[in-house]
Amino acid sequence: MKPPIPARDISPERQAMYYAGMAAGVVGALLFVSTFFSFAMNFGNFDDFEGRARSIFLRAVGGMCLMVVGPAVMGVAARGLAGSGVKLDPEQARRDLEPWSRMRGGVIGDVLDEIPAVQQVIDRLGSADQTVEVVRVRCNACRALNDEHDKFCGQCGERL
Ligand SMILES: [Zn+2]
Repeated sequence: MKPPIPARDISPERQAMYYAGMAAGVVGALLFVSTFFSFAMNFGNFDDFEGRARSIFLRAVGGMCLMVVGPAVMGVAARGLAGSGVKLDPEQARRDLEPWSRMRGGVIGDVLDEIPAVQQVIDRLGSADQTVEVVRVRCNACRALNDEHDKFCGQCGERL
């Protein structure tokens, strides 16, 4: 049994439309290419030249139309009517494009997830250096903290 398609995903209708567009584009390309073969095979054959020329012309034009329409249908199916600008409806467009923006967000999220891990490694490397503790000496006169190598207090100038 197939799991139900989440409501926020691209609808089965749009998916079907996408593949129909893809098929149309492929059929169009085949039709278009077939005209070259017909032309080559019948080269020099003038029986019913007019009829064949018409057939070749129709297939060439039809094939070109399908090659233009097919990918266009794929684009509309992928982004939805509003998302692809066929229908002017920004709210619908947002919903149509939601699976794509969520996908992009997911990709960016994956990258961001990796950054804290990288950050942790950098932090750990950094803290390894800082395990060399700095010994501070407190001044007897003013209680200010000074470096252990200091001879005089940085705050009051008293000898440490
Ligand atoms: Zn001092």
